Amino acid sequence: MTNNKLKDIYNILYSHYGPQNWWPGDSPFEIMVGAILTQNTNWKNVEKAIANLKPYLDPFVLLNMDIDKLISLVRPSGFYKLKAQRLKNFLSFFVERYNGSIEEMKKTELGTMRQGLLSVPGIGMETCDSILLYALSKPVFVVDAYTKRIGVRHNIFGGNATYEGIQKIFEEGIKKDVYIYNEFHALLVKAGKENCKKRKPLCKTSPLEDLV
Ligand code: SF4
Repeated sequence: MTNNKLKDIYNILYSHYGPQNWWPGDSPFEIMVGAILTQNTNWKNVEKAIANLKPYLDPFVLLNMDIDKLISLVRPSGFYKLKAQRLKNFLSFFVERYNGSIEEMKKTELGTMRQGLLSVPGIGMETCDSILLYALSKPVFVVDAYTKRIGVRHNIFGGNATYEGIQKIFEEGIKKDVYIYNEFHALLVKAGKENCKKRKPLCKTSPLEDLV
């Protein structure tokens, strides 16, 4: 039942909105940086910070960069001191464990890679899984507030469902496919922003109206 519901939601959103082609970024490393900078802000602000960082987008260069300079570069993304520190935390991990190499990181067993990322201060489950899916093309479903809101409103799970509980439902309910996970998450974000508002869902104009 849930499987069919998830498939219906995916198919309807995909045919309504079309492919979202996430994640914007010129390289996997840029996507990793973007995943950290996008915490608690909108993508427009992240784009400005990424534009500042473009000449320095190398793990060793950023790791060795003076923290005040890094803070000034990431300033447009908000919470800039915190984010500069989180970036440094991630960069230390990435350089120490994988020598700053995406290819090296990709060779690691998925569970070990996820555990490692989650051990970095400031990297929570959503950021970790965004890095795994969008930068490293690993089949990991990313859960966010929109996933939860739409799932609850469509009775796929209850309001007390945990991040990992929701993730399991999606990963067991749909084909394990990086492209589908990529698009499904992006489509849920799109549907959440356009119609499934926090306070008042706009069901009458939602492509998912018939499924409520
Ligand atoms: S706006 Fe209504 S129909 Fe659309 S996703 Fe939210 S609850 Fe479902």
